[in-house]
Amino acid sequence: MNVLVINSGSSSLKFQLMDTAENKVSAKGICERVGVDGVFTYTGGNTQFKDKPMDIPGHEDAIKIVIATLTDAETGVIKSLDCIGAVGHRVVNGSEKHTGSALLDDKEIEYLGTITKLAPLHSPAILRGIKACKKIMPGIPQVGVFDTSFHATIPDYSYIYPLPYEIYSEKKIRRYGFHGTSHNYVTGEAAKFLGRDIKDLKIVSCHLGSGSSITAVDGGRSVDTTMGFTPLEGLMMGTRCGTIDPAIVTYLINEEGMDPKEVEDMMNKRSGLIGVSGVSNDWRDVCDAAKQGDKRAILAQKMLSTQIKKYIGAYAAVMGGINVLLFTAGMGENSYELRKLVCTGMEYLGIKIDDRKNQNFERGANLNLSAPGSAVQTLIIPTDEEYMIARETVRTIAV
Ligand code: ADP
Repeated sequence: MNVLVINSGSSSLKFQLMDTAENKVSAKGICERVGVDGVFTYTGGNTQFKDKPMDIPGHEDAIKIVIATLTDAETGVIKSLDCIGAVGHRVVNGSEKHTGSALLDDKEIEYLGTITKLAPLHSPAILRGIKACKKIMPGIPQVGVFDTSFHATIPDYSYIYPLPYEIYSEKKIRRYGFHGTSHNYVTGEAAKFLGRDIKDLKIVSCHLGSGSSITAVDGGRSVDTTMGFTPLEGLMMGTRCGTIDPAIVTYLINEEGMDPKEVEDMMNKRSGLIGVSGVSNDWRDVCDAAKQGDKRAILAQKMLSTQIKKYIGAYAAVMGGINVLLFTAGMGENSYELRKLVCTGMEYLGIKIDDRKNQNFERGANLNLSAPGSAVQTLIIPTDEEYMIARETVRTIAV
């Protein structure tokens, strides 16, 4: 079946057309600067272009452009809309209601409209993408695959914040966790790669990209994760601060006269790697600057790798052990420096990596980095959220 996977951002719309029977990507691309001065990047069949200027005033226009390109005689890979069996949408927060993927009928879309405040930075755009697809492809089933669903198995003592209980029971403010589609995919792949039953594994899954999170996966179930009520909690990220003393927020507002919006913006867009290093939100630039001796870049490297170590230790404690340490996403898959910084000094937990394997990894391939005799298997498992969304979409409409 051809599944169109849609990942809508506030000013972008990423898409991938997957033939799930063949397990192959037929076309993919991204509409960017939606609502500003649109550009379109596309790869499909024999056609490939990057940043082509286009008029893309809104998400509905983006979907129309995607469909027109996919079905065009020259650029297309399918004859008509009828060749699309289903559309799978990445949805950031599905609330407590969605412990799995869901068919998006009118009632469900209306419900998603009532919970956009749970993810105000992401959800409005996602909803626009879903509504646009529903309008342009009315007969094609739409499925929501939620970043939060995989974390539905986290126990209450780890998802409830120690605030007055009503903050959870009435306002639904709790840890939801994100990147669930990725953690679910890579931990499943890790078990297959090792030839083990996932039920027997205690995995610490490190998704380290521009947004980063770590999840403890015990027997295939998420039991704790670093992101919380929003994707701001946990590790420091490219531009996000991660966990800080919450009193800093009120101090900046009450004592330093900062506006709440300004603080929110600072924590989301001007903190993390860029905030500490002053160099870049991109890990590669931070590493380059650190090699030149830039003190703040070295500080940012040490801060991030130390935070990752702390969570690995914490999650080994939560699970009563660790068999697999797994790295994925941009930095996790590609940065041998980060993997080395993290794994050095972790021998006490049974984590021993082979530095040659760590440096000579093949991009995009699974790899076991462990040194002989290491009790913990340390792996690189490339993530593939689009594939997972397509797979979930097929499974959901078959039910
Ligand atoms: P997202 O999908 O969340 O935008 P990615 O998963 O692509 O982010 O991760 C982006 C991060 O990965 C950036 O900090 C970038 O520097 C880092 N990264 C990407 N490629 C490499 C590489 N070859 N070596 C080191 N870091 C890399």
